[in-house]
Amino acid sequence: MAGPAIVRLPVEGRTVRFKAMDGVSEMLVAESRAEPARVALQLLARIAEPVDGGSADWAGLTVTDFEVLLLALRRDLFGARVLSDFRCPDARCGERVEMEFSLIDYLDAVRPHRPKGVGPAPGRTGWWRLGDVFFRLPSAEDQIAAHNSEDGVALLAECCLGPALSPSARRRAETAMAAMAPEVSGPIGGVCPGCGRALDAMFHAPSFVIGEMRRAFTLLGEEVDLIASAYHWQEADILAMPRVRRQTYADRIRRRLAA
Ligand SMILES: [Zn+2]
Repeated sequence: MAGPAIVRLPVEGRTVRFKAMDGVSEMLVAESRAEPARVALQLLARIAEPVDGGSADWAGLTVTDFEVLLLALRRDLFGARVLSDFRCPDARCGERVEMEFSLIDYLDAVRPHRPKGVGPAPGRTGWWRLGDVFFRLPSAEDQIAAHNSEDGVALLAECCLGPALSPSARRRAETAMAAMAPEVSGPIGGVCPGCGRALDAMFHAPSFVIGEMRRAFTLLGEEVDLIASAYHWQEADILAMPRVRRQTYADRIRRRLAA
């Protein structure tokens, strides 16, 4: 795979790069019982670094930038092709449906823009102003809080919109927010090859990326065991190796054992 890619965050315009994935990061993903978005933030704290020297507060990124960053990491690690596989929800059909798309096209379609009339709110960092309406864009941390709340929509409105907005003012703010920080996760359309029914598969970037990593990182324990047995290196040293190097050692040992 290509060397460390630079990711441009579409909302903030900042650039970020990834350090090599190592066993410590893999173990964090494999063993954490936290929800996917929380695990993703813990992982980013270990391996993402701002190229521009700016803040590494990934929880404070807009949801858009957070999910773009996560999908870029997936692209670096496993490639751009996404194949999702599920059953047609029509009870009479139940056909296995495969949907395939490219993360390059998917990420390319995320094009935030600031609508006319929206500008920074004077004296309020991170807040925007549209006429007499003030708002800020929901962060990854806000979204996790909303997800764990009884009424996530109300919570997001409370933390990201000014108080007591009229319905029309709220609609205007929400339209501007959707343009400035478009959703990355969402339904992906397709057609069932069995019954021709139009399908919407929900694509949730953190669940997808963390779920896939958990399935991919199951060989970590075996590889540590192989290398520790063959070379008598310490577990901590093996975990600290870049994943690719650890896999190369493990493959060499497997070949020797099979010979
Ligand atoms: Zn079907």
